[in-house]
Amino acid sequence: MSSLLTLEEYQSLSKSISFPTNAFIDGRARNSSNGNRFETLNPANGQPLAKIAVCDQHDVDLAVEKAREAFEAGTWAKKPPNERKEILIRLCKLIRRNQHEIAVLESLESGKPIQDIEQIDIPEALNCLAWHAETIDKIYDQVAPTGDDAVAMIVREPIGVVACILPWNFPILMMAWKIGPALSAGNSVIVKPAEQTNMTALRIAELAVEAGVPRGVLNVVTGIGEITGKAIGLHHGIDMVSFTGSTEVGRLFLKYSADSNLKKVVLECGGKNPCIVMDDVENLDVVADHATNAVFWNMGENCSSNSRLIVHRNVKNALLEKILQKLKDWRTGNPLDPSTRLGAIISKDQYDTILSYIKKGTSEGAKLITGGSAITLGNGYFIEPTIFDQVRPEMTIAKEEIFGPVLAVISVANSDEAVEVANATNYGLNASVFTSNLSRAHRMARAIRAGTVTINCYGEGDVNTPFGGYKQSGFGGRDNSIHAHDQYTELKTIWVDISDASVNGAID
Ligand code: NAD
Repeated sequence: MSSLLTLEEYQSLSKSISFPTNAFIDGRARNSSNGNRFETLNPANGQPLAKIAVCDQHDVDLAVEKAREAFEAGTWAKKPPNERKEILIRLCKLIRRNQHEIAVLESLESGKPIQDIEQIDIPEALNCLAWHAETIDKIYDQVAPTGDDAVAMIVREPIGVVACILPWNFPILMMAWKIGPALSAGNSVIVKPAEQTNMTALRIAELAVEAGVPRGVLNVVTGIGEITGKAIGLHHGIDMVSFTGSTEVGRLFLKYSADSNLKKVVLECGGKNPCIVMDDVENLDVVADHATNAVFWNMGENCSSNSRLIVHRNVKNALLEKILQKLKDWRTGNPLDPSTRLGAIISKDQYDTILSYIKKGTSEGAKLITGGSAITLGNGYFIEPTIFDQVRPEMTIAKEEIFGPVLAVISVANSDEAVEVANATNYGLNASVFTSNLSRAHRMARAIRAGTVTINCYGEGDVNTPFGGYKQSGFGGRDNSIHAHDQYTELKTIWVDISDASVNGAID
């Protein structure tokens, strides 16, 4: 684990590092063809941060052309697996060597606390890249049970040109979740970062070339969703889109695919995830730790945030008391300060959206028990961790993904009611269940419609386990684990007739 620097050291680094602001195509940084740029802000102070190139159709065409050229030339796709592995491991080392600089870039753009980036996001991203790199020369193809007259091989091949569309809430980590398996499988990749957070993707693409990834294999096109993202979605030269973001935009990528070349689409979307606490839990203090982390980590800007606390009425008050105690340790402040646990909200828009949900919670009759307001810290976008008690399942704050530090507490009388409330959502990304009854834990885990259910802890599994959603939380595949490789490869059957007839010509 990387050691943290001091606030002064991070501040001085933020002044000395250069900001990558151009797109990265065919192994080098380039301005967009139209020369247009958009301004990004540092959400912790509301000040302009960088002017990023807006790639349009021409730039996307160029990125696709270069990615395709590299794929067809086989500079990466046909490289022996162990050589691809070595290069990706070298990339991990370069990222580690530049970790503090990358962490500062990520924090300045996203408002995320530097301690989380240094101690969670980057280590997990590196673990993910290394894990997928290490699988390259360990995945075997198959021979089908055909009998003695034929040999049928089932082989995996890279899909071709894969576009990875990223959200702003975990820029490096989501990039690693996608490029790890996509590059390992031998694809050429085009990354489109979210508008707000571009620089770490650009820096990682530079480092990839330094590590030995051939030009054209990892490209980054920066720009606006409706321009750059749409041009990718509708492009006939892209074979697959792997998207993480809102359900609303994910839906658009399915339309783009239908309106263009039926490119494969994998979606990781939003969530309104339940944390269920039964009245038989052994240690309410531990549960309170998990429940607090589950909703407030990353300022609640987390697809797998447990933003609904569905708690047995017998333990509700005791649990809320403990959560309020725990919250005292969650200091909001300058994201570059290594003691800060809650940073800034990503943008003014998101800040306004969260505050409007808080207003709605109050107006619909939920009881505000803590927070509920903005925090004034310079001109940054900060909001207090907020908890609403006496929430009913039909209230807006119980149904819609807020993507902010807002917890909706719903009390229930038994496990059946808890599961019913948990499932009463269009989403199904993840869920947590706290109970000391083993068979109840298993029964509830089976009954909850979500891609990941954690028992007696909050989490998303790890790189070894698939991550993705049921219902409108996901579509077409899973991130992480060996299953992620499946989505970045095509299966091919190669059937060889070895019967006598194939030699003697006697087919009957
Ligand atoms: P978003 O949907 O607004 O944007 C995601 C990406 O799509 C960005 O790169 C954006 O530029 C692009 N985009 C936006 N509009 C587009 C359009 N019209 N055409 C093409 N591309 C377009 O999401 P966001 O606000 O960046 O991220 C927050 C959302 O992401 C939340 O809903 C969250 O739950 C979800 N998320 C999901 C996971 C997961 O693994 N399931 C992980 C992180 C975030």
